[in-house]
Amino acid sequence: MTTITPNPPSPYATADPNLRHTLAPPNNLLGRFRTPASTLALTDCRALAVVPNQPYNFSASPVLPDGLCTTCIATWIYDEPAPAAPLAQPCERCDALTQHGTLCAVCRIDAHDRWTADGCPSWEATYEPGNISTFHLGWHHTPHTARAAARAWFWEQHTDTHTLLWYPVEPGTDNWYEANRINHDGTESPANLIIRRLRGTQTAA
Ligand SMILES: [Zn+2]
Ligand SMILES: [Zn+2]
Repeated sequence: MTTITPNPPSPYATADPNLRHTLAPPNNLLGRFRTPASTLALTDCRALAVVPNQPYNFSASPVLPDGLCTTCIATWIYDEPAPAAPLAQPCERCDALTQHGTLCAVCRIDAHDRWTADGCPSWEATYEPGNISTFHLGWHHTPHTARAAARAWFWEQHTDTHTLLWYPVEPGTDNWYEANRINHDGTESPANLIIRRLRGTQTAA
């Protein structure tokens, strides 16, 4: 059995990134997508995913490939929409109640468009103190610029310019680093700064 590739990645997608999702009506009809490729759109499982460049041709084979979202396919085959999640929390940007987490669908689509227009940078810098909101410090094309943005933000928040040391969170991989600051007595303490690479590439199959 063949395996279908997941939808292209986006930091603003909410659908399971390891699966291929079908798009909610009116976008999805036998693999023909009306929403332009590379944009963020509502899926049949009521999440948001990126429209692939090449829609899968469902009519080409009688056997469905592996890797499809079962909720999407059940919706698509039986024509019954997945139940909507409750409007759980206000959007961080526009305050609209949303079922899509910290950002509503409209703000996610807008943010995805700007991320795409910037060439889909893959490194995110954040400040994550743990007890309060995470501060998004931008998407960057390289770990060096992500670290520079994190350091610049950190120094703005502190009167002292502490040196930062970056440690891999997953040793042996190049995806995720956390910073410690060096105190004046030479000890280290967490700076709560993190840089992470968005996994995957922007090429769709
Ligand atoms: Zn789905
Ligand atoms: Zn919003």
